[in-house]
Amino acid sequence: MKLSEAQKAINELTYVKEAIKNNEISNYGNNLNIFKQQLETYFSKPNKIVLTNSGTAAIHLALIQLGINENDEVLCQSFTFSASANPICYQKAIPIFIDSEPETWNICPAHLERAIDNRLKLGHKPKAIIVVHSYGMPAKMDEIVKISEKYSIPIIEDAAGAFGSTFNNKHCGTFDEFGVISFNGNKIITTSGGGALICKMEEQQHRANVLATQAKANKPYYHHEELGYNYSMSNIVAGIGRAQMEVLDERILSRREMHKFYTETFKNIEGITVFKEPNNSFYSNHWLTCILIDSEKTGFTNEAFKKELEKHHIETRFLWKPLHLQPVFSNYPYYGNAISEQLFKSGLCLPSGSNLSNKDKDYIKSVIIDFISKK
Ligand SMILES: *Cc1c(COP(=O)(O)O)cnc(C)c1O
Repeated sequence: MKLSEAQKAINELTYVKEAIKNNEISNYGNNLNIFKQQLETYFSKPNKIVLTNSGTAAIHLALIQLGINENDEVLCQSFTFSASANPICYQKAIPIFIDSEPETWNICPAHLERAIDNRLKLGHKPKAIIVVHSYGMPAKMDEIVKISEKYSIPIIEDAAGAFGSTFNNKHCGTFDEFGVISFNGNKIITTSGGGALICKMEEQQHRANVLATQAKANKPYYHHEELGYNYSMSNIVAGIGRAQMEVLDERILSRREMHKFYTETFKNIEGITVFKEPNNSFYSNHWLTCILIDSEKTGFTNEAFKKELEKHHIETRFLWKPLHLQPVFSNYPYYGNAISEQLFKSGLCLPSGSNLSNKDKDYIKSVIIDFISKK
């Protein structure tokens, strides 16, 4: 059954009110228990969930658990949001950036292996691989897992925007020891701000929960043997997550509908390609639908197209500017060619929200067709 917008709002409010009524407004309570249970059921055994106050915090907790410390090297996809790599630097470790391949826009297995070989020659064995499932698109996990096993380097999957995406019917975020989901405001479901660490073992789950609550040791007084963090989720926002889990499938379907809509809109337009799954092994939640513009064929750049849509109050975003090109990360090693750079230079993210009406879609389509037919 389809829940109406009004019903969705009622459930969110119901669970938040329940938390306040029961005076469970801190980092324990019924909403947290139920939200965690919903996620564990969704990802199924042996996956265990730790709820955090952001996806970034969950990435940080994964790195700590893998023992990443000062001067350790961590391989990280360059084509991503800065939050994928920031926690590497929080640990004073060294990000080694890797280019993408053009099919999924995610970490390129060939460059990844070349980087590992080169780091080994230099006498530094990388301690983890951060793979991102950009815009909801699963990375080539079969090849990446093989490399991870060959060199015994664990994977952290940044599935922040890929909740519900699968590769070979396996959920993004569940391929190796740690995966991360974000419930930030712009993600497929949101708790206003929040995240989840997916792990496999109870000890990992327990340790992450301890670290996320200031690493208080199990004593009758405040006792701390290691550095802790204030990373846990509040029971209030967990109520929003709990309600949104009830509409997750519907949200994914409408994001995929948006992707279909753009595929149809750009079908006969020379020089614009809609980013899509390479084959049936990949199932993207299509968190954001993206396009690439070949300006030689279209006669306009991504920037010009963005400006035109902006004039008509349609908001688009540039794709990630690769991290190896960011001033804050520019001193770290990079392995690759210019795939991620090319994506940044020619791509755009289109309005993809699950709340766009048919009228909105018709309007977007008419603005696009109008602009292109004038070129
Ligand atoms: C949103 C996002 C994050 C960070 O998640 P927060 O919950 O905002 O901390 C990390 N990586 C990627 C790819 C994201 O899209």
